[in-house]
Amino acid sequence: MSLLHTVEVPRRPVSLLEPVIGAERYAELTRTADRVRSAVAGRTIWNVNSTATGGGVAEMLQVLVGYVQDLGIPTGWLVITGDAGFFAITKRLHNQIHGRMDGGPLGAAEAGHYAQMLAADAVELAARVRPGDVVLLHDPQTAGLAAPLAQAGARVVWRCHIGVDWENDATRAAWEFLRPQLAAAEAYVFSRREYVPSWIPADKAWIIPPSIDPFSPKNQELDADTVQAILLKLGVLDGGAATAPARFVRRDGDVDVVRRPAGVVAEGRPGPADPVLVQVSRWDRLKDMAGVMQAFADHVAPGGEGYLMLIGPAVNDVSDDPEGAAVYGECLLQWRDLSAAARARILLVTLPLDDTDENAAMVNALQRHAAVIAQKSLAEGFGLTVAEGMWKGRPVIGSAVGGIIDQVANGTGILLPDPADLTAFGAAARMLLTEKDTAERMGRAARAHVREQYVGDIHLLRYARLLGTLIGED
Ligand code: UDP
Repeated sequence: MSLLHTVEVPRRPVSLLEPVIGAERYAELTRTADRVRSAVAGRTIWNVNSTATGGGVAEMLQVLVGYVQDLGIPTGWLVITGDAGFFAITKRLHNQIHGRMDGGPLGAAEAGHYAQMLAADAVELAARVRPGDVVLLHDPQTAGLAAPLAQAGARVVWRCHIGVDWENDATRAAWEFLRPQLAAAEAYVFSRREYVPSWIPADKAWIIPPSIDPFSPKNQELDADTVQAILLKLGVLDGGAATAPARFVRRDGDVDVVRRPAGVVAEGRPGPADPVLVQVSRWDRLKDMAGVMQAFADHVAPGGEGYLMLIGPAVNDVSDDPEGAAVYGECLLQWRDLSAAARARILLVTLPLDDTDENAAMVNALQRHAAVIAQKSLAEGFGLTVAEGMWKGRPVIGSAVGGIIDQVANGTGILLPDPADLTAFGAAARMLLTEKDTAERMGRAARAHVREQYVGDIHLLRYARLLGTLIGED
């Protein structure tokens, strides 16, 4: 049995991007691709991570690897295997990088198991990767591959998709574990400058934030009738029959319709013209759905306009995510304790996860229907929901934490310096739900900012700069 799995990614025509990014940027992308192609000169650029589906990294690789293939640059995506013990260790590393010391620091036994598992993967990788090939290793699961791959002659880059902009014992423990594993990497990539640990030399640290794909089910254009049809299907809108099918295009290009309803806890629902404030998040305390609800109940519902929808994944399968179920349960109790007037304006919405593309289309329609997007996180790595909302031309009310700070540029929304300040959040929500011209102006700026910074071509150009330094002068 092979430990290594090759992900076959369908080629994605980069020409799709031209109408979105304009002729000039498109020309820069193809010019840069020409340069990279000649610098690469027969090598292959490999991505290595530990999952082909699920999660933001896999979602991004599906898109970017597809574009790079279309640009004629040899590239591949390999997924490593580990046993349950290995993934328990890497989950602890993940949490430690986020500052949570789950189960104490990792000791010699864990280091041994981690190394042993990756040594087996490395043997197979070394047979695939040729000397001179560039290998992009993603996240802590792959860090221990840096040394064996470098020994096999590969040029190794490690990309860390997570981080926090402070240190504590947990983050220090994680880096103490990872640092020796990563000594052989020639470059390190982080989503934000603030996430680069201090032991990484400045000239080896690269900043490449995530990107969104305008054509994925999560972000593809949906006209107003389709948005309304999806919301009616979900059961979050009052009145009216759908005037169009609840249609969306799957990642493989097939056209389908949203069929499943959402789980909706509500005593009132907005009409099609009522302004809605939306926060889409996992049911995680750090996303502070509870704070959004309280702020809306206390500062918007009395006298202000609009509705609030708190939207997250279905939590039926308690064993799958016990913390998510607990947080959702707390929100439900809190909602029941609200005044009847507040309850009538606040909906708790859970989206079925049975079909990833359908779930994404639901999120897309809800973000498009929103007048205002909230992301009131108490802590945040990047916060893709922010870019997703902004891409749909919506202003964002976000806490000034993590990647939300980078995304909510001047004039694109409202950044709240204190994430726990419910009065400030309530005032911002009340203002943007009422002042439609301001909300629309900010929404236009928001979309423009995402187009400038967070669409795939920008992501690829940032990688190209790194490659230029790594192999350009060989
Ligand atoms: N998301 C989703 N369905 C849900 C809730 C969230 O598809 O019911 C998506 C959301 O659209 C975003 C991702 O999950 O793409 C969450 O990423 P983000 O960076 O905002 O936060 P994370 O969950 O990684 O902390």
